[in-house]
Amino acid sequence: MVVPLHGGAAYVGRSEGLGDELGFISVDQHSLQHSDRPEVFAIGDAADVPASKAGSVAHFEGEKLAHNIGRLLTGEPLDASYDGHANCFVETGFHKALLIDFNYDTEPLPGHFPTAMGLPLLKESHAHHLGKQAFEWPYLHSLLPGRELPGVGVEMPERGKRHIRA
Ligand SMILES: Cc1cc2nc3c(=O)[nH]c(=O)nc-3n(C[C@H](O)[C@H](O)[C@H](O)COP(=O)(O)OP(=O)(O)OC[C@H]3O[C@@H](n4cnc5c(N)ncnc54)[C@H](O)[C@@H]3O)c2cc1C
Repeated sequence: MVVPLHGGAAYVGRSEGLGDELGFISVDQHSLQHSDRPEVFAIGDAADVPASKAGSVAHFEGEKLAHNIGRLLTGEPLDASYDGHANCFVETGFHKALLIDFNYDTEPLPGHFPTAMGLPLLKESHAHHLGKQAFEWPYLHSLLPGRELPGVGVEMPERGKRHIRA
């Protein structure tokens, strides 16, 4: 498998001090606010935070971003609590997939999501492939319009995860 070097948009390099050498916008990883320019925020693939470049990350960051823009405009302190939460079905081929859930501090762990009664983590199955396909409708019609979906939240759930002792 070959992964080419990732980079941000070309305009970032043309705006002095906006981003890093790869063109990602330099923001605080918890508040998503630019390190030097308080009026600039970045999320998703544009941000230089050490989270996955993934749809779930952009979605979770979006919630914090909307919250923090409101706080900036009303002069309140920013919410610096984004934990780097990422949650993905990963297609593994032959109509199978697995589910991973992690954040800045916690690697993808085995167990269940979002609680001990939930979906198995790090276990390849046909059910997860179907789960990925079935998730499309609730994503488009529930999460994107801003409705809550039980178990899918910004903060990474701890319950159900099995920590591995070295
Ligand atoms: C092939 C592929 C498969 C993927 N599979 C998965 C997956 O299974 N699960 C997962 O979680 N993630 C997946 N990802 C990653 C995911 O798509 C991205 O992380 C996510 O879309 C990032 O969202 P974003 O809003 O930051 O950027 P984008 O989705 O890229 O949105 C940026 C938008 O800005 C627009 N734009 C750019 N420049 C300008 C401009 N100058 N003016 C106005 N608009 C502009 C672009 O047209 C685009 O619509 C995949 C990515 C790829 C490429």
